[in-house]
Amino acid sequence: DMGFLEPTQLQRNASIQNILSWFEFHWLIFLFLCSAEYPDLRKHNNCMASHLTPAIYAKLCDKATPNGFTLDQAIQTGVDNPGHPFIKTVGMVAGDEESYEVFGDLLDPVITERHNGYDPRTMKHPTDLDASKIHSGQFDERYVLSSRVRTGRSIRGLSLPPACTRAERREVERVVIDALSGLKGDLTGRYYSLTQMTEKEQQQLIDDHFLFDKPVSPLLTCSGMARDWPDARGIWHNNEKTFLIWVNEEDHTRVISMEKGGNMKRVFERFCRGLKEVERLIQERGWEFMWNERLGYILTCPSNLGTGLRAGVHVKLPLLSKDPRFSKILDNLRLQKRGTGGVDTAAVGGTFDISNLDRLGHSEVQLVQTVIDGVNYLVECEKKLEKGQDIKVPPPIKQFK
Ligand code: ADP
Ligand code: MG
Repeated sequence: DMGFLEPTQLQRNASIQNILSWFEFHWLIFLFLCSAEYPDLRKHNNCMASHLTPAIYAKLCDKATPNGFTLDQAIQTGVDNPGHPFIKTVGMVAGDEESYEVFGDLLDPVITERHNGYDPRTMKHPTDLDASKIHSGQFDERYVLSSRVRTGRSIRGLSLPPACTRAERREVERVVIDALSGLKGDLTGRYYSLTQMTEKEQQQLIDDHFLFDKPVSPLLTCSGMARDWPDARGIWHNNEKTFLIWVNEEDHTRVISMEKGGNMKRVFERFCRGLKEVERLIQERGWEFMWNERLGYILTCPSNLGTGLRAGVHVKLPLLSKDPRFSKILDNLRLQKRGTGGVDTAAVGGTFDISNLDRLGHSEVQLVQTVIDGVNYLVECEKKLEKGQDIKVPPPIKQFK
């Protein structure tokens, strides 16, 4: 007589159903099942962990983008990496352009926290690639060793590195190198596929700061971005190695302008010119970049939305970096420090990678100017400390909040 309920159970069910509707009853069962899947975030310190409540998890855990990317895939890197020694990481990634809509209930507050109060539901992001507006863009080269500006761009219609198929990844590579073959003049160059490079050539490019690191970062591997490495990865660069495009690392493309010394204005001019040219060549072939007016350029990591821009220098600050006010000064100038070997390295010998902290809600021109003004201020502080003079913590730059 399986399937028949005892009268007492029938009565009990009936009484529950008197209180809850059919929908509410099943919703409770669903919430219970979701709570069994809710990740343990008790020791975590990243933006995802700060905003992923059990209720938001329950609301989003059975959703997927049209490509089949799920919430659990989006948050895996933040679940596996509770925190980062130098910076509060975001803790989640997008698998495609639609992720930002489908998982908006989590991504919107994460974006607001990471981008210092920017509200993606109500605000619009500005773009400005007019480098002629930049002033004081030449640094003191006794302190600034190299200057660099990078961004990322994604090809609309193809999944992002955490979710793309092998075929999609190879399609990104094909579309991008086909377009780049149209670059002319000082931008003329060629593509170097990782699969065709020797170990020595690859290591040399990494050591010279031109190429992304091997997929050693757990932030990268845990998000699924390093699958099939090194298939369809590579670097395109011009003959001078001053304009470079990374293919299929963390983003479909990373576009970089860099050179030795402190001429940030010239680096940004080449960046703007090259980037516009790359976009034109991509569009000529019937493709376009992922972009919308609320989020700007769409990239894999929510921290890079908007401009995707990181303008930075390698700068020697042996005295200032030992001063207890260093971190506060950087915060107030909206600057971030990294080691010179990249995001996962510590600084050695008082030389740092100093770059803009913000990406979204400010234009490229504004962010580069912020870095120029900020780094000039840091160099002035270093000079004062050399002379035994006192330095001041500057007032904080105004933010959205
Ligand atoms: P990104 O934000 O571009 O991914 P990473 O911190 O991962 O930057 O570093 C990538 C590579 O770029 C590293 O080899 C790093 O040393 C190099 N790099 C970053 N900024 C500069 C700079 N101002 N000058 C020279 N190399 C740089
Ligand atoms: Mg990186």
